[in-house]
Order: sequence, then C-alpha cells, then structure tokens
Amino acid sequence: MSAFITEHKRSQLNGLYRPADIGRQVTVFGWVQSYRDHGGVIFIDLRDRSGFVQLRCEPSPWAEAHKVADTVRSEWVVAARGEVISRGSNVNPKIPTGEIEIAVHELEVLSEAQTPPFEIKDGIDTNENTRLTWRYLDLRRPELSKNFVLRSKVMQSTRQYFTAEHDFVELETPILMKSTPEGARDYLVPSRVHPGQFYALPQSPQTFKQLFMIAGMDRYMQICRCFRDEDLRADRQPEFTQLDLEMSFVCPEDIYTILEGYAARIWREVLGFELQLPIPRMTFQEAMDKYGCDKPDLRFGLELSDLTALLKDRVEFRVFADVLGRGGIVKALYLKDGGQFTRKDLDVTFPQEAAPHGAKGVAWARVAANGEWSGPVAKGVSEALRQELNAHMGTAEGGLLLFCADKPSVVNASLARLRLVAGERLGLMDKSKWAFCWVTDFPMFEYDEGEGRWYAMHHPFTSPRQDHFALLDGDPGSVLAQAYDLVVNGVELGGGSIRIHRSDVQQKVFGLLGLTEEEAKQKFGFFLEALKFGTPPHGGIALGVDRMLMLLTGSESLRDVIAFPKTQKASCLMSETPSEVDAKQWAELHIAPRRA
Ligand code: ASP
Repeated sequence: MSAFITEHKRSQLNGLYRPADIGRQVTVFGWVQSYRDHGGVIFIDLRDRSGFVQLRCEPSPWAEAHKVADTVRSEWVVAARGEVISRGSNVNPKIPTGEIEIAVHELEVLSEAQTPPFEIKDGIDTNENTRLTWRYLDLRRPELSKNFVLRSKVMQSTRQYFTAEHDFVELETPILMKSTPEGARDYLVPSRVHPGQFYALPQSPQTFKQLFMIAGMDRYMQICRCFRDEDLRADRQPEFTQLDLEMSFVCPEDIYTILEGYAARIWREVLGFELQLPIPRMTFQEAMDKYGCDKPDLRFGLELSDLTALLKDRVEFRVFADVLGRGGIVKALYLKDGGQFTRKDLDVTFPQEAAPHGAKGVAWARVAANGEWSGPVAKGVSEALRQELNAHMGTAEGGLLLFCADKPSVVNASLARLRLVAGERLGLMDKSKWAFCWVTDFPMFEYDEGEGRWYAMHHPFTSPRQDHFALLDGDPGSVLAQAYDLVVNGVELGGGSIRIHRSDVQQKVFGLLGLTEEEAKQKFGFFLEALKFGTPPHGGIALGVDRMLMLLTGSESLRDVIAFPKTQKASCLMSETPSEVDAKQWAELHIAPRRA
C-alpha cells in the first residue's frame, strides 16, 4: 500500500474544484486522461467520476514530481498533492474546472495501465460491442458514468418518497420462484437436491406482493430485478429493474395520486420540470381510436380519423370496398404539412414502416386547391364524397392524407407507426416536452385467433370493473379491467391494476384463460388458498426503472442506464455469459445436454 494513501486523504472529487478553492493545499487521486509537455511544463488532466482537474507540473522547484510526471501515460492511476492556483489568462470556459489548476508539489504513480482498446472520453464512436467487452473502461467515460450517479440519486429519492413519506414497507421477494409461465418464458434454475425439479427466476413478484397484502403489510415497495426469457426485440433486456408497488384498501384513484406525486418529484429533482397534476387520463378505447395504440405520444396531435362509417355502403367509392365488405375498417392520418413528404416517402418509406404491422399498402392523396385530390385514391372518389371527407378531416390545400384499410389491429398498428414517423419528420417530438397520461379501462382479455383462446391483457390477477363481473360468464371479450398504464412521450413507464381479491373470481378467470381446475391448483394453489384467508381489496403497479432513467437521461438505449447490460442476443460480452458448464455440474443437477 502506498504511503500516500495512508498519509493523505483526498480533499474532494476532481471535477468540483472552483476559484473559491484557490490557495488550498489539496490531495487528488485519479486516472490520467491526457498529458502534454509544453516546453518543460507538463500538464495532466486527472479524471474521476466527477470530471477532471488540470495538474501543472513545473520542472522547478518540484523537480521530483516533474520527473514522475514525465513518465505517466493514459489511464495510469496517480496521486498528487499541491496548491490550487488560478489559470490566469489561460482559462478554459468549456469545463467546470477551467478557471483553476493544481500546481503539483508531489506526484506518485499508484498503478500503471495498458493502452486501452478505445479512448476514454466522451463522444467516441467506438463500436458498441467493443465498449461492452471492456465495459469497466466504458464506465470511466463521464457521459456514461454520470447516468449511474443519477440512477443512484433517483433510487435514493424513490426510497425516501415511498418508505419515509408515504409509509410503504420495503420488502424482498424470492429470486428462486415457482415456474408459472403465462406471459413470457421463464429462466429456469435446476435443483440439485430435488432431481428433475426447477426453480424459475421471477418475471415479476406479482403473487408474492399480493401475499404481502394478505399478510397485512398494507403498503409494499421493492426495487427488484425481473427476468424474462423473450426473443429480444429492439430495446429489451433479459433482466431489468422494476419499482414494484402494492397497496391495500385502494381504488385506481389512490394509485394515481401516489404515482403522480412520485413522478412530479423525480421530474422536478432531476430535470427541474414542473409536472402539471393531475396527469390527464384516457381510456384504452379512446387511445386506440385517436392514436391507434395504447401508449400514445401526446407531445403532438395528428389524431387518426375513422372513416369506416362514412365509407361503408358508398357504392361510388370502391377503393376500400373489399376490406369493408369483410368487416374491416378504414382510418386516415391527415398531415397538414404534407408538402414535406416526397414521392419516395409515399411509395417506399411509409409502406415499409407499415409493413411489419401487417399493412399491405398505404394509400394516399394530396390535397390541392379547392379540395381537389391527387394520387392513387383520388380517382375512386366522387366529388360529393371527397367534400364530405375533406370536411370530416378538416383538410386544406397542401395537406396529405394517408389511408389504411384492413382489420382493426392492422390499421391501428400501422397508422400508429406512421403517426410517429411523421411526427418525428415534422419535428414534433420536442425533447423538452413531457406529455404524461394514464391509459385506463383496458380490456380484461385478448383473443388469440391462432391458438383459439383468451389471454389476460395485463395479467390473470387483474380485477374486472365492478360493473363488469357479470359479463365474465357470457361475454369475456367485452369485460373491461381495472387496469392502467402510465405513459410518457409514447413510452410505457409502467402498468398495474386493482386485483381480484376473491378466490372464486380468481378461479373463474383462470378457467377463462384455459387453465383447468387441476392446472390452476398445481400452478397457483398456494395463492388461491391464501385468497380464502381474509384478503383486503388491493392493487398496485410496477414502473420500469431502466426505462424511466433512459427518459430522464435522454439516452438512446437501455444499455446506457444499465451498468452491465446484455446484448440483443442476451449475452454479456465482458464475462462471456452465458457459458458452458462442465459435465460434473450437469450430473449434479440431474440433467444432461441434448446432443444434436
Ligand atoms: N406485475 C406487473 C408487471 O410486471 C405489474 C403490476 O400489475 O403491478 O407488469
């Protein structure tokens, strides 16, 4: 151990030095970001997680320190002592410590370093896989490390808000759980002591947090890790962090109030943004009608128009007749500033964006003077109908209409996508705006035509609306749930529900989801049993912590707010995980690899 470390204590982090410190004798530690020899004077930028400070090493009278300075290289770890002085006329206004430097009297190398595989500084364009392989070096870069310092502060405020100020109890739930695959696939852990049996890593601690309510804990919170073995779409991680909450004796309003106070606090603390409360609400149906999706980006309008009723049975308009005849719908997106979109957008970009959502094409029309239309749809429309459509959508010269006709799910998803593409192109996704909303009244069930069965839209523990209980028997498709999502700028920040608190209703819902009584007992017997021992009405919500941090830091990817993330293929490039295990481990776990 260097005597330096035992004899001297660090004065403060490097990025915090300011003119007020001038004259102080200080001790600094850090990594050599860069070094420059300016005619005998050696300058070293010394970095730590707070930023960096400039060290000034003169050949005299501190010759010993100057000699050491002459040997240092990038990323070496050094300690220095000296006096904070003014930079005089050499101020660098671009950095917070730019007005001062430290005249070094003593310098010691604590650790040498190999040349790093990429430069450790902000704004590099190094391939992400290289950065992930040496993640600890990537994390030295201030633009990344600041996200984790912020993450820690947000977690601290979260605990303060829920436990200290709102009487939640922070409780832990098991990581080794029972496998009850419903939504995504479970990660399984084979048991050594129970041959042939498995634990599962939690997809969410849903049943356990409800059991805490039955246990009388009243208000539960946990910042917990959840695991889902899904094929990783776009920006997903196999393990992620949730802020998990549950409360007894509540209705949705109570959950909204608590969460709104929380969101307002975090957005104020982190961004200085004053969130207007209450957060507006919109039913699922309204969101689908107007925006084609259940997580609308409300920073801008561009609402969809449903033309189905208007076009139905209009013999003079044959363009969408086939689709309408088959019970499909027609919706349109009207873009006032249509001139911005080129023929290539219309013929290539828009259809390409809509195709993954099932659209076989995107019909369009440009609005000319006097409400005339041009484009593929124009020919099929009579003058009278065109005028009706113009009036319905409030079109004007220069506008552009995008039409989609298909079954409702395809039309909605395709136009929702085009709305975002257009919104982005028109510069409507203002990064300084925060449009929060609650989406409420989700349907309880979703029908999977392929499998011919109902699925729970949120999860099987969600309660129907009080006045829809009776519909469970005859018309499950029209049952609305007491479920809600919190959406911000088109991102689902979290979702939750009021839960079923009666064993018989829970049993019935399991039945509707295709679980026989036997299966329900085998998977959820412990839970159905618990519901019979005095269950308070309760409900809760879970927020995606990583997503929230992504929004708060303005990051492009979840990987920028998860310290050691996995790749799109669910592997850790740094530790080379997952990896094979040896034959002895297979044997101990009573399993064997399947050879191809
Ligand atoms: N457990 C749910 C989820 O992970 C959230 C909730 O209903 O509280 O989506």
